[in-house]
Amino acid sequence: MMAYLCPVCGYVYDERSGAPREGFAPGTAWSEIPDDWCCPDCGVREKLDFEPKEGVSR
Ligand SMILES: [Zn+2]
Repeated sequence: MMAYLCPVCGYVYDERSGAPREGFAPGTAWSEIPDDWCCPDCGVREKLDFEPKEGVSR
């Protein structure tokens, strides 16, 4: 599983935990998230602007 970082505010979407308040259950893959989904924290960046973040389990 992967996590994705918003480069503006630092919000991280982790596929393992999902984003329940956004309606994405834990385990929801990044590929299942709509391309027009915006960062829930800053609302500035869209899905395509997020950066893959590896090694978050450390
Ligand atoms: Zn953000």
